[in-house]
Amino acid sequence: MSNVTVCVRFRPLSLKEKKVHGDSVCITCLDRESFIFKDEKEEDLPFCFDRVFYQDSAQADVYEFLALPIVQDTVKAINGTIITYGQTGAGKTYSMEGLGILDCDENKKGLLPRVVDGLFQCINSSPEDIKYAVKLSMVLVFGYLFDLSKDNVQIKENKSQGIILSGASEMPILNTEEALKCLSRGISNRAVGETQMNVSSSRSHCVYVFSVQRESAIDKRVKTGKLILVDLAGSEKVEKTGAEGKVLEEAKNINKSLSSLGNVINALTNGRGNHIPYRDSKLTRILQDALGGNSRTALLCCCSPSSSNASESLTKLIKTPPRTNTNDANDGKAFLLQVGDHQIENNSCEMTSDDACE
Ligand code: ADP
Ligand code: MG
Repeated sequence: MSNVTVCVRFRPLSLKEKKVHGDSVCITCLDRESFIFKDEKEEDLPFCFDRVFYQDSAQADVYEFLALPIVQDTVKAINGTIITYGQTGAGKTYSMEGLGILDCDENKKGLLPRVVDGLFQCINSSPEDIKYAVKLSMVLVFGYLFDLSKDNVQIKENKSQGIILSGASEMPILNTEEALKCLSRGISNRAVGETQMNVSSSRSHCVYVFSVQRESAIDKRVKTGKLILVDLAGSEKVEKTGAEGKVLEEAKNINKSLSSLGNVINALTNGRGNHIPYRDSKLTRILQDALGGNSRTALLCCCSPSSSNASESLTKLIKTPPRTNTNDANDGKAFLLQVGDHQIENNSCEMTSDDACE
């Protein structure tokens, strides 16, 4: 699978990191693709990604680099996945949703509302002999699946339609405005679902599935492109969060699913026709169609720029051979090593709304 784009995004230092921990920024920008990270032992670690978004990066730039090509392909019936990954408080939801879906300041709009805009722009500028039907479903994953409008979702596979979330409501979406209202409702339901199920938002994955069906008026052929966006659970080690009993079990499940996702992406990236362990978790089953085949995947690793929080996450996430001037396609590219179960030693990255970045 060569169609994997791996990017990293550093949020600004939070007030807590600055004022309480006295942290400073530990990354030095080299260029748009590489940076040096000074870890807690003052060692310089070079990293290389497809794109690095630094603290002052604009939401629009993240969308244009990471998501726009995938959105354009979805409308051509090519599946795609966009995943935000990282420790709790690292900026996953900020990147995915922005600061609100409806009435959001243009600069703060995250990937979801921009994807909706992009999809309908592509659709509206398509030739008139192609008719489109867009549907949206939203599911919370935390061991169980929770439809963001009702419960009891099951995963089924159908030869013509691929993976289906049976029981998950698929809302027909006619335009950008409707899609944004739906998303906003789903996101409010996320909080309700998490409270009802007694699960913290850092311990569940939120999955948004846009299904874009296109029918040609000429040959009547129907094709569907599926675009899945995932705001993953926090990647910190569960034992450190002090969870017990049922909550601990659920948290372990979530960590298992993060590891399964890492294994699937590794197998797809390195694999030469080997077995892809999609069935190891509900999350990887849901993503099966959108990760395999000729689909495109973008992974945004969200990080705090302070060494106490991010170094472990970064070193576990990627292997970074130094970039040289050879023609080897893999040279200098980020490789996924392990997506789940990071041994983050402290949780000082966790923030409440009072700890927002300046
Ligand atoms: P996560 O979803 O990874 O737990 P959040 O997205 O909720 O983390 O981010 C934690 C806090 O940091 C929020 O207050 C958010 O608004 C802020 N934040 C995250 N990324 C950025 C950024 N790139 N620029 C400004 N503020 C950010
Ligand atoms: Mg979040």
